[in-house]
Amino acid sequence: MAWTRFGKKKDMPGGLWIKCESCGAMLFRKDFEQKNRVCSTCGYHFTLPARERIAITVDPGSFDEMWKDLRAQDLLGFNDRVPYAEKLVQTKQKTGESDAMVTGAAKIKGLACALGVMNFQFLGGSMGMVVGEKIALLCEHALKTRLPVVLFACSGGARMHEGAVSLMQMAKTCGALQRLNAARVPTISVMTHPTTGGVTASFASVCDLLVAEPGALIGFAGPRVIATTIKKELPKGFQRSEFLLEKGQVDRIVPRAQMRDELARLLAYATGADPVAAFKPQAVAAVAEAEPVAVAAGAAAGTVAGADADKPKKKPKAKKA
Ligand SMILES: [Zn+2]
Repeated sequence: MAWTRFGKKKDMPGGLWIKCESCGAMLFRKDFEQKNRVCSTCGYHFTLPARERIAITVDPGSFDEMWKDLRAQDLLGFNDRVPYAEKLVQTKQKTGESDAMVTGAAKIKGLACALGVMNFQFLGGSMGMVVGEKIALLCEHALKTRLPVVLFACSGGARMHEGAVSLMQMAKTCGALQRLNAARVPTISVMTHPTTGGVTASFASVCDLLVAEPGALIGFAGPRVIATTIKKELPKGFQRSEFLLEKGQVDRIVPRAQMRDELARLLAYATGADPVAAFKPQAVAAVAEAEPVAVAAGAAAGTVAGADADKPKKKPKAKKA
């Protein structure tokens, strides 16, 4: 086995290989990236940076980012070896992101939505004042425009550097979603590995539809903390998507490769848009190829024009079923 020959991970040449966190298989990095960071051996879904998530989910060029310049403040003068203010600057330089949430308006297979995606690479996707504010602003925008909301969660919980202010974001995001609920604007939460702490305990769990990626750890306190507290062995698969689906806390498990199609279906059902177009499998690459056609057909085919125009080229006249 290549793993034995190379020994420890740090001996790997140039990061060509990556070890699966779940099954331990050695994965060729190029294949791994092509599969959108899913293990080809066991199907384990690694965390996906927000920008990559947006790229594989929405129609090319349709994402219009909003509130990009919101910045967190170090209200407490928090110092954890590195002062929080400095840590924010460093993390921004490292990730190119201003905080752990990217928000905006987008289209998924031609269906418009308000989209928020968490970025685990930014301080463990922790929820602080910026994440809370962006979700609240996104919900207000959705209320005004009546756009359905899709939120991708990926988080270690509330951001301890902001103390009580980070905890207040739980109430704030739930309040914002409640207003959408009262106005009957649909909301979808997609929980990805890991979704824990204050994020699970707030916006990620209170949307109309709760979708999860396979094998994702979803919970409040971690399994080890719970096991030591209750001094009992936890059931197999505890706090994983499949376990939570069985217990009714999750509505549906959707693999990453099918997420775009599934979200389009759910959005079509929720908004009353033509579900026929949304049901057709359509990869992101196919949309890019068909984009000029989509523009030409757009006026005639209405809101689902992008999806409608993307039929196989050998049947150009088989429009509308
Ligand atoms: Zn694996």
